[in-house]
Amino acid sequence: MTDPREYDLIGIGFGPANIALAIALEEDPDTELRTVFVEKSPVPQWQENMLLGGSDIQHHPLRDLVSLRNPRSRYSFTNYLFENQRLIEHLNLPTPFPLRIEYADYISWVRRTLSAPVIYGTAVIGIEFDPETDLYTVTTSDGDLLTAPQVSLGPGRTPLIPDEFVGTLDSRRVVHLTDYLSAAGTFDPATDRRIGIVGGSQSAVELALDIRRRFPAIDVGIITRSWSLRAKDHSPFSEEIYFPQFTDYYHRSSKAARRRLDLFTRPTNYSAADLDVLERLYAEMYEDRLHGRSRTLIYGDSEIVAVASGPHEALTLTTRNATTGHHDELVFDRVVLATGFRDMGGGQDDEHHHPLLGGVHRCLRSDSDGDLLVERDYSVRPVSGTAPIYLNGLCESTHGIGDAGSFSLLSLRAELIARSILDCHDRSRAGTSASA
Ligand SMILES: Cc1cc2nc3c(=O)[nH]c(=O)nc-3n(C[C@H](O)[C@H](O)[C@H](O)COP(=O)(O)OP(=O)(O)OC[C@H]3O[C@@H](n4cnc5c(N)ncnc54)[C@H](O)[C@@H]3O)c2cc1C
Repeated sequence: MTDPREYDLIGIGFGPANIALAIALEEDPDTELRTVFVEKSPVPQWQENMLLGGSDIQHHPLRDLVSLRNPRSRYSFTNYLFENQRLIEHLNLPTPFPLRIEYADYISWVRRTLSAPVIYGTAVIGIEFDPETDLYTVTTSDGDLLTAPQVSLGPGRTPLIPDEFVGTLDSRRVVHLTDYLSAAGTFDPATDRRIGIVGGSQSAVELALDIRRRFPAIDVGIITRSWSLRAKDHSPFSEEIYFPQFTDYYHRSSKAARRRLDLFTRPTNYSAADLDVLERLYAEMYEDRLHGRSRTLIYGDSEIVAVASGPHEALTLTTRNATTGHHDELVFDRVVLATGFRDMGGGQDDEHHHPLLGGVHRCLRSDSDGDLLVERDYSVRPVSGTAPIYLNGLCESTHGIGDAGSFSLLSLRAELIARSILDCHDRSRAGTSASA
């Protein structure tokens, strides 16, 4: 190990959350920070394992990396189209939302255009805090040590693997959606006759359509707790939860009030899909029946209560019907988990902190339930010390639905974090020069 390299700010992960932060810092004329971002992928792509043919983005394209904060930024989606000579052509598309493959290219273009220093192909494997120096030390998979008084943690949320599937991911038969396209390359219609998709989300429906298109010989079963698949609530009053005022309101609320608000907000994004993909799947299933076939079945109102190895290396999922209590056994050769991601908190599918905070969470301020105390500027501070860790893209349970699993407020979040980072830096410089 070498001596730690010193910075003013370390960013962990260089996905949309930290890219938006890097831009906000670059666009501030007074920034003089020594910054480094560490990204585990050698050639990072936005959600590369779910860039499915024909899939579109789930947010208004102007809610991009910058526009709500600085509509004049050169890093806007509009400027990306303009500089790539596609603006007029794009405006003529008969679809309201850009294709996901184009949005992924926009993010890659920004990444290439930005001057922020990034170490690619290196994962952060640990974070520690020293209350004596008020500094964090970040350890990388290369064995390097980096220190800084401020950290922006933006690794994306932890994939949610339901308890029944823990331990099955190594078996090659079960894959989370974040690994889907890599796994799909190994699907073999000769042996993989039935594929189960767990969940009732946008991703679950997209996966069903994709498997049906790629592998006409493979049957698909969708297992969902809801009675059936349903549409997201995109109505205008509901969508006001993606206003920054809602984030203020949510953050000020008690934990109990937040959970109550979640019941209202979740149907705008979770366990539901856009109407276009629902209608496409419905029509395709109808057409199957005209051909005397039933290639896709939806197992609604069903909860998976056990997973076991079945015949010929298949998996048997035992489901329980929530209404009748009846148990069923469904056999699949492969299973794709469209089960989403973990939030921070004490709920059934939550985690108290992101795994990368394992070495440091005891030094950070938390409440009596053990949940981290996250400020409005997304910072968590140490119990002894002032050095902030910003949870960039992990704060849905404290800041509401517009915050983590969405681009909706990304640029405004970046603005708040950048301002807080610069204030903190200025204060510590003023303190250093006063004591000199
Ligand atoms: C299939 C799919 C489609 C989606 N579509 C939309 C959409 O259309 N609109 C929308 O608003 N939201 C969408 N989302 C939500 C999505 O989470 C956000 O859009 C966005 O990707 C969040 O950005 P992020 O930077 O927080 O996380 P991520 O995009 O997950 O980026 C995190 C980055 O951190 C890196 N990283 C992780 N761990 C480490 C480590 N230990 N060390 C170093 N680097 C690390 C990762 O390699 C990655 O590059 C989608 C999510 C999925 C899964």
